[in-house]
Amino acid sequence: MLDQYGRKIEYLRISVTQSCNLKCIYCDPEGENCSENWENNLSPEEIEKITRAMVKAGIKKVRITGGEPLVRRDVCDIISRISKIEGIEDISMTTNGVNLYRMAKELKEAGLQRLNISLDSLKEEKFRYITGGGDFKRTMEGIDLALKLGMTPVKINTVLIKGINDDEIDDIISLAKDKPIEVRFIELMPIGSYGEKNADKIIRNDDVIKARPHLKYLTRTDKGSPAIYYGIDCYKGKIGFISPMTHQFCGDCNRIRLTSDGKIRPCLGNNGEIDIKGMLDLEPEKFDEYIRKIIFEKPRGHNFGEEYSSSRKMNMIGG
Ligand code: SAM
Repeated sequence: MLDQYGRKIEYLRISVTQSCNLKCIYCDPEGENCSENWENNLSPEEIEKITRAMVKAGIKKVRITGGEPLVRRDVCDIISRISKIEGIEDISMTTNGVNLYRMAKELKEAGLQRLNISLDSLKEEKFRYITGGGDFKRTMEGIDLALKLGMTPVKINTVLIKGINDDEIDDIISLAKDKPIEVRFIELMPIGSYGEKNADKIIRNDDVIKARPHLKYLTRTDKGSPAIYYGIDCYKGKIGFISPMTHQFCGDCNRIRLTSDGKIRPCLGNNGEIDIKGMLDLEPEKFDEYIRKIIFEKPRGHNFGEEYSSSRKMNMIGG
């Protein structure tokens, strides 16, 4: 359906947990939410019920995220329920890849089609530093397995941070050379205290592109995607740039988010959220109407340009 600004909302991001098995410096370095109260999380049945109502309102694509979705034991049950809903055309997941080596096959069998995997460095020690203890080889193993299982294109998400990993841009780009990988550079956002305090560490994607004339602009095929893509001659994959800090793409935004504790967050960069968990007992028609109203009232755009402080870190919203 269209929201009040005429945008077609068809993409739902579902966070299934706030917990994470990594402590990325720009997300939740203290790992505060590793002790989340699991009882507050929506159950697979509740997630299915909300998604069914969302589909009636026009949602076609779902992404499972977190926190780290693969720390939730019943994640395959959630995926299997969603993948069986008529009207869902695409179901994907954003993960740090740590548990993929043992779960990828099961995820695929449950109906998961594609994976976005976060990878901020190709150097073991730096990877460990950025992720607060992550094992680089494990994540690479997960990426290879996703490729092997045909869960493609595999998208790699890299948050660039000045002085930390901007010396690796070309090495990370070269991951797309021989494999169907889409490398995507994401500008550091003021979500969580690191991003709020380190605006000077933002790497502007425009500067990355300008310094690499061999990148060839690819015409946008998916207007709803936040990434602008570039190709390189003879590369199998492509390079994407997600630039929330330097380019507002809110006019094309087609997403809303469901948090693991049962709130709808219609905009990533706006603290407004609406309770949905407490509404699950509404009559079906009233519940559908409630959801349509939330979608219709999605805010015009994010507040990053102003003095903005997010009420939730990224792992609590669902990235
Ligand atoms: N645990 C999963 C993962 O690591 O991909 C999913 C959740 S994580 C919050 C989702 C995405 O948000 C990751 O790609 C991460 O890099 C990104 N992210 C977290 N905090 C961010 C920030 N302050 N600015 C930009 N991206 C951020």
